[in-house]
Amino acid sequence: MAELIVGIDLGTTNSEIAIVEGGQPRVLVEDGDPILPSVVGLAEDGRLLVGKAARNQWVLAPERTVKSIKRKMGQEVKVALGTDQFTPQEVSAMILRTLKARAERELGVPVVKAVITVPAYFNDSQRQATREAGALAGLEVVRILNEPTAAALTYNPDQSKAERILVYDLGGGTFDVSIVHTEGGVVEVLSSHGDTQLGGDDFDELLLTDVATDFETMYGVDLRANRVSRARLLRAVEDAKKRLSDHAITKVEEEFIAEKDGVPLHLNVEVERIEFEELIRPLIDRTMQCVQQALDDAKLTAAQIDRVVLVGGSTRTPLIGRLLEERLGQPAHREVNPDLCVALGAAIQGAIISGQNVGSVLVDITPHSLGIKCLEMTDDFGFRPNEFKFAPIIRRNSPLPASRSEVFATVSDNQPIVEVEVYQGESADVRRNHRVGRFNIEGLARVPAGNQLVVQLDLTLDGILKVSAREKATGLVKQITIENALARYAMAEREHAQSRLNRMWSDLETLSTPPPGDEPNLSEDGPDDFDHPLDEGGPETEHGVSSPVGVPQLDPGPREGQRETVQARALLEKADRVRGKAGAEDQVELDRLISRVRDAMTDRRWGDLQSACNDLSDVLFYLEDA
Ligand code: AMP
Repeated sequence: MAELIVGIDLGTTNSEIAIVEGGQPRVLVEDGDPILPSVVGLAEDGRLLVGKAARNQWVLAPERTVKSIKRKMGQEVKVALGTDQFTPQEVSAMILRTLKARAERELGVPVVKAVITVPAYFNDSQRQATREAGALAGLEVVRILNEPTAAALTYNPDQSKAERILVYDLGGGTFDVSIVHTEGGVVEVLSSHGDTQLGGDDFDELLLTDVATDFETMYGVDLRANRVSRARLLRAVEDAKKRLSDHAITKVEEEFIAEKDGVPLHLNVEVERIEFEELIRPLIDRTMQCVQQALDDAKLTAAQIDRVVLVGGSTRTPLIGRLLEERLGQPAHREVNPDLCVALGAAIQGAIISGQNVGSVLVDITPHSLGIKCLEMTDDFGFRPNEFKFAPIIRRNSPLPASRSEVFATVSDNQPIVEVEVYQGESADVRRNHRVGRFNIEGLARVPAGNQLVVQLDLTLDGILKVSAREKATGLVKQITIENALARYAMAEREHAQSRLNRMWSDLETLSTPPPGDEPNLSEDGPDDFDHPLDEGGPETEHGVSSPVGVPQLDPGPREGQRETVQARALLEKADRVRGKAGAEDQVELDRLISRVRDAMTDRRWGDLQSACNDLSDVLFYLEDA
């Protein structure tokens, strides 16, 4: 059996430990959590705390807690922990020991040898301090590995293909961009740039200032003045920031965060991603300048980069992916969890040193983007709006499960209804993508155009897609579930190809034009004959949503059960008709849904009937369309 060499990412904010087992790298977890916060503390009774417990007490006892020790590695300084003073190596050793113990508990064998990663810009004394920390923790450090090299290894472990990889690494407190060349077992860092004072913590500070200023305007209390209130607020805004990576809007809530004249004050504000992006844009622009610098130093153009890899928790911020893609002309890889990427790469390096064969990291990703159809606005030059615009919500190669939301806006005044059409594919024109479902949300508030709707997609590992639309102002929600969204795409693609072939064949035979309703005309200019109201416009995440008429509605009505029953009967009739024409596989699916609808109707379970009808209606729509 090959010798065990673990890989450790000793991060500023978080640390992880990984191994390679059976050729597969994996991160070791404790209580289901792979991440150990790089925080060390002393409890009130003098007990040593490392990780989550230490991070939790930092809010209340910052004087007994040490964060971000990595920033001090290599310096001749000491940090206070309670009444004692410690070197940065000693504090780092406490983190490393905790990781070592975690691995020994899970693997049941002693862990001695390790590869530990450091930023590419670390100088000799910082690297030496890292080695010393390892030794203090009882580890033999067989290699100090550059973090970007580790990240590159997770995406190209056997290095069979020569690649130039740009690694964009934005963590909690530091930013690095490196260009790495991998070929035939040699990994070379061509250039490396960064900013040791820039990271997700700065995003938190900006959001904190924004929220605290609003709070002060409202209540006349500055939350930043009280240490505990400030720490609580910081944690709340960090959580909100993370949610904004997946959702377009979120709330920052903290009960009893302050007091005024003996009256408790609660914090409850809404933040939108779009506002947050405006706040952090200057910081991200700074990182983009570093990217350019790294390219210049490596004497490469953007087009010469084979792969862009995202590392570090903060790269989940969608604005980063968007701006990088704009600048480098290719989407960035985020398949491997950006928090775990470096530890996995360190484990791969360890396995290579011990002579093991290593395969690439296995991840479940969505192979196609999912999003909805919307209306793209006319521009200043007076071009017509595009009513077939595809607005991706979950992007291709997102790890599963994925949950994302975006905000859209109505296009006309007093618009009572909006159609949500869900598509899968990569084209900016929905007619080139595949429709996987649709539904209407109706009964919207009678307000001017610009009424905001939050559309959320939740895709599970099993390919079950939940789509919901919520009117932001009133909370009105409509949702559908599309079973087997991923598999169905493959089937639909096949059928689509088949029907196109058939049509081309018959065109050849009859030399006639295809019947109406068939393959859409995909001319560059789009169709000429539409007449849609215009969206008031708005920044990137706001899109217009068209409002069709005459689509069956499944909203719960005021008279209990009556409306559902009428609609269910109509759907069952339709299902009968469609079933006759469906293939065997679809018939099985239809039968299952028909029984669900019948059972719910018989048992008068109106809620279940509603959701069964939604599912059946979605499948019928798809089958009719196929
Ligand atoms: P790292 O130093 O790589 O562990 O990254 C930690 C940083 O990533 C912290 O600033 C976190 O707040 C940030 N982070 C973690 N998850 C997310 C997320 N979903 N969206 C944005 N930032 C995140």
